[in-house]
Amino acid sequence: MAKNNDYNRVSVLVVGAGPAGLACAIQLKTQKPEIDVCVIDKSAEPGNHNLSGAVLEKDALHRLLDSAVPGWWDSDAAKDVLRKKVNKDNVMFFLGRKLSFNIFFVIKLAKRLGLNFGQMIHKGDYIVSISKLTKWLGQIAKELGAEVLPGFAAADIILNGSADKATGVKLIDQGLDREGGKLPNFVEGEVINSRFVVLAEGCDGLLTEQFIEKAGLQRQSPQLYSVGVKEIIQVSSEQYQKFGDDRVVHAMGYPIWTPFLGPGMFGGGICYPVEDEHIAVGMIVGADWKYCNFNPQDALTNFKNHSFIRQYIDGGTVVEAGAKMIPEGGYLAVPRDAETGAIGRGNVLILGDSAGFVNMLKIKGLHNAIDSGMQAGQAIAETFENGEAAAVRYTELIDKSAVGKEMESAKNFRQTVAKFGPLQGMPLSVFGGLLPKFDTEKDFEAMAVAGYRLKPNQDFDKDTFTAVAATEHREEQPSHLTIIDSEVCKSRCTPIFDSPCITFCPAGVYETVHDEVEPANPSNCLHCKTCQRKCPFDNIRWTVPEGGGGPRYKRM
Ligand code: SF4
Ligand code: SF4
Repeated sequence: MAKNNDYNRVSVLVVGAGPAGLACAIQLKTQKPEIDVCVIDKSAEPGNHNLSGAVLEKDALHRLLDSAVPGWWDSDAAKDVLRKKVNKDNVMFFLGRKLSFNIFFVIKLAKRLGLNFGQMIHKGDYIVSISKLTKWLGQIAKELGAEVLPGFAAADIILNGSADKATGVKLIDQGLDREGGKLPNFVEGEVINSRFVVLAEGCDGLLTEQFIEKAGLQRQSPQLYSVGVKEIIQVSSEQYQKFGDDRVVHAMGYPIWTPFLGPGMFGGGICYPVEDEHIAVGMIVGADWKYCNFNPQDALTNFKNHSFIRQYIDGGTVVEAGAKMIPEGGYLAVPRDAETGAIGRGNVLILGDSAGFVNMLKIKGLHNAIDSGMQAGQAIAETFENGEAAAVRYTELIDKSAVGKEMESAKNFRQTVAKFGPLQGMPLSVFGGLLPKFDTEKDFEAMAVAGYRLKPNQDFDKDTFTAVAATEHREEQPSHLTIIDSEVCKSRCTPIFDSPCITFCPAGVYETVHDEVEPANPSNCLHCKTCQRKCPFDNIRWTVPEGGGGPRYKRM
C-alpha cells in the first residue's frame, strides 16, 4: 500500500475482492496503468468468501478480459474456470416429494412472447465456481499492477463533515481479547487514505450500509434478501454421468411452495455439475418467510430427498458447504443519492451485490457485478482529476449499460411476489413495469407465529456443514455478533417465536446459555448476515471480525 511515497495513501481503494471489485481494478489498470489501485478483502485468500450458484453470462467477462488480457482464453486458468457451458437447461416444477415436471417450454414460450420470464434461460452460459473465478480475476488484477490484499478487514468508512466525500477507510483493530482488552500483540486498525473509495463488499456490506445511512442515500423500496445454502457433493461416476456435465437444474415448488396447502415462500432449488464426480445442490429462499421454526437447510434437506434430485446424489459425501444472502429487491432497492440519483456520492461508488445488481428474473447477478465494476473503473479513469464527479459519472454509465437496462426490465418483480405471494404474485409480475410500485415490509417484519409444515424429523447437521465450510476465526477476540437487548429475547421473542436465530443461523452460532440466547459460537460464523436481517425484532448486529477469519470456500 506504500504509494506516492506515503505509507497509508492510495489513489483508489476498493473494499472487497469479489468479481465487482476486481473487475473495477482490472478495468482501471487497463485504461490508466499509472493509477495506483489497492483492493482489500476480509477473507484469508481471494475467493474464500465468494459463494454463488453459479451460472455466468459471458458478455461482461469477455469484454473485461478482451481489453485487459489479449489471448486470455488460451491460459490454463481460463480453460479451468470456464470449461463448462450450459447445454441442457432444466426448469422444473416439483409437486410433493416425488413428482416433477420440466416446464422449460413455458420459459421458452415467455421468451417468444417477449414476457419477463423469458429471461430465465441459461443455455450457452458458463457453469463456474465463483471462488475459482474470483481467485483468477485477483491474479489478473495483480499482474496488471493492482495490489490485492486479503486478510484486511475494513471496519469504518471515513467521511468529511458533510458526508459528501470519503477520505478513506479504517481497518479493524487486531489483537483484542474477548472483553475488548488489548493483548501484547495489539495493533490499532490503520486508516488508509484514498482519493476514491469503491464499495464492492457483496450483499449487505458493512461499510456500504454505514455509508448509505451517513450520507442519507435512499432506496425507493427496502432491500429484500434471500438466503442461499449450498453443498458440493461427491457422487459416483455413474451418477455424475447420468446428470451430465453441461446441465443446470432450477426447481420451483416443493419444498418451499406448494399450491393452497403451503408453505408459501419465494425461491427454489438448484443443481449443477461442479467438476468430475461432484454435483452442487442448493436452496435459495426469500428471507421474507414467516415460519418461525424454519431454516433454509430444512428446505435443502427436503430438496435433496426429492426423488428427482436424490437419484443423482444418493450415497454421496458432502465435501464443501456454505451460506450467503442475496439482494433481491432489484432496481427499486438500489441506494441512490436523493439529489443527484447517483449510486454512491462524490468519490464513493457502490458496486455489484452491495448496490443490489441482482436480477431475480434470471436468478443471476454475477455478470452485472462484473459489468458494474467495469463502469466504475471507467468512471474513475474519466474523473480522476475531479473525483467528486465520479459517482454521478458512474451512474450515467450504469444507466446506459446492460446492467441498468436489465435491472430496469426486472423492476418490481420481487416486490410483486412479496406483496401477493407466489401464487398470485408470479403471474401478476408478468405485467412488470406496468404495475405500480408496491410497498413491501422488511424481511424481518414478516415473521409470524406459524410453523413450516414440511419440517424434517431430524435436526440439520450444522456441525458437519460448518466443518466443510472450513470456517475459523481467532477464538480470543471480541464477538463480532451483538444482541442489542437481551431482554427483548427473553420477554418477547422467546415466548412468541421460540428464538428463531437458534434455528435459522446455518452455522449454529446462537444458543441458549443459562436461559439467555447468545451468539455462543461466533467462530463458526459463515458471514452470511442472515441473523442481522431476519431476527424478528431487528435485535442483532453483525460487525467485521479480524481479517483472515470466516469460511474458506474453494469450489463454491
Ligand atoms: Fe429472537 Fe433476535 Fe433475540 Fe434471537 S436475537 S432470540 S431472534 S430477538
Ligand atoms: Fe450467518 Fe449470522 Fe449465523 Fe454468522 S451468525 S452464520 S452471519 S446467521
